Amino acid sequence: MDGRYQDCTLLHVDADGFFASVEQALTPALRGKPVVTGAERGIIAAASYEAKACGIGRGLQLHEARRLCPGLVVVPSDYEAYSLYSQRLFAILRRYTPLVEEYSIDEAFGDLSGCGRVLNEPLESVAAAIRQAVASEMGLTVSVGISLTKTIAKICSKFRKPNGQTIVQRAHLPVLLRRTPIAKVWGIGPASAAKLQARGIATAYDFTRMEEAEVLRLLHKPGHATWRELHGYRMLPLELTAKSCYQSMMKGHTFAPPSADARLVFAEAAHNMGAALAKLRRHRHLAREIGLCLRRQDYTHQAASAALPHPTCHDCEAVPMVRALFEALFQPGELYRSTMVWLGGLLPEAQRQLDLFADTPLRHSYERLDAAVDRLHQRYGQNAVTPAATLGNRLKAYHPRDAAPERHHALLPGESAQRRLAIPRLTLSNPV
Ligand SMILES: [Mg+2]
Repeated sequence: MDGRYQDCTLLHVDADGFFASVEQALTPALRGKPVVTGAERGIIAAASYEAKACGIGRGLQLHEARRLCPGLVVVPSDYEAYSLYSQRLFAILRRYTPLVEEYSIDEAFGDLSGCGRVLNEPLESVAAAIRQAVASEMGLTVSVGISLTKTIAKICSKFRKPNGQTIVQRAHLPVLLRRTPIAKVWGIGPASAAKLQARGIATAYDFTRMEEAEVLRLLHKPGHATWRELHGYRMLPLELTAKSCYQSMMKGHTFAPPSADARLVFAEAAHNMGAALAKLRRHRHLAREIGLCLRRQDYTHQAASAALPHPTCHDCEAVPMVRALFEALFQPGELYRSTMVWLGGLLPEAQRQLDLFADTPLRHSYERLDAAVDRLHQRYGQNAVTPAATLGNRLKAYHPRDAAPERHHALLPGESAQRRLAIPRLTLSNPV
């Protein structure tokens, strides 16, 4: 590593238009096209750079977006794929340093100090190699920033986006900070930015010129930490524990028209529970707790949860619990519009304590049943077989949206089914 940079070793990597880029990486026909995700909600969750060029961004209504960009491609969010890609990104970074913080699904910090002799290259080459590895192995681009602290590295990675890299050593810091509006500094929220702007502080550089005591008085400890970070002192340590498992999962669905029919509302709840448990099995986790929420027509709701007798991922063991919760919550005569089921207290299947008294042959038959059902769903779509309890309302015409995602049939390059399933996921809940 180059001697000029000395303590300039804090790395920030930010994927460009992540969810939309993953969709483009998975479906080559989408490359170069304006793509947005969020079809399932009617609101844009993420936009590709081609879509952003049409003025489309997160949170926009789909009909509005289609008006702005007639050729827009709208796809449903596939959070499982995004989580998988996220883990691949972090794995690439770990080739360069073991000190990686998984900051969010598409952002990470890393510390390259002490890696100089191993890498034996200038930082420009390290940044370029990371970008190159991500581009060739994952088919998407990232922007890289390297500087003295996390706060400055984050400014750097935004400086040239998309697919850029910015390395700022101490001597050039004022140039960068003068070009950074104060409201764009990580850690300066809208309220702090307003306070500072009211004092004539427009840029990160102006902020660093403030007296330390004044910063402490005005913005207290967190703002003071940001001020020190902008001066090049490391105040924010890397958080190195990998987010390796889910804490909870939920599935919900709104139906129309609202219904007072107990059979139909229960069928909805049972369907959501089936979907949540199938997801749990895909991630090889077990739940210790189950919850149910019934939302009425007037948007008020009632919820209850209960501990399962033992950790499980099987429909047959969870259904009696959902039935009991439903009977406690459902009120005849009320109109309901949605149900949501959540599974809590999750633990990886590998950590299951063997229970001497559990009915093992019965559990094995549940396992075989669910495995067979999962295979049918994978092959024929997610409503191919369904519990009798959900028959009331679930016999509907096949819709392409019900089909298993494409990647269930085609593994990503370099993956086997086992490896893919074993990759730890981030905590993500589906939008209700
Ligand atoms: Mg990003």
